[in-house]
Amino acid sequence: MSPRVIVRSLVHRIAAHPDILPTYAANCTSCHWTAEPSKDGEAVDVKCLEHAGRSGHRQFMRTVTGRAFVVREGESDEPPTP
Ligand SMILES: [Zn+2]
Repeated sequence: MSPRVIVRSLVHRIAAHPDILPTYAANCTSCHWTAEPSKDGEAVDVKCLEHAGRSGHRQFMRTVTGRAFVVREGESDEPPTP
């Protein structure tokens, strides 16, 4: 008898960590100005508007960094131990 391999597929999905808020950041594409990273995205947008008003620079790279985790089929939405 030849060896058997049992393959099963599990449904996974990815979820945002409920206890760790995303961090928003932005930097000007015309100079070295950067907004202080914040959990408040609107506050970062306001900083960009202020910089635009002072400098005339109107384009920014914006990033949002957040923690996510994989939820396996049948598991709860509780984040696993890192
Ligand atoms: Zn600038």
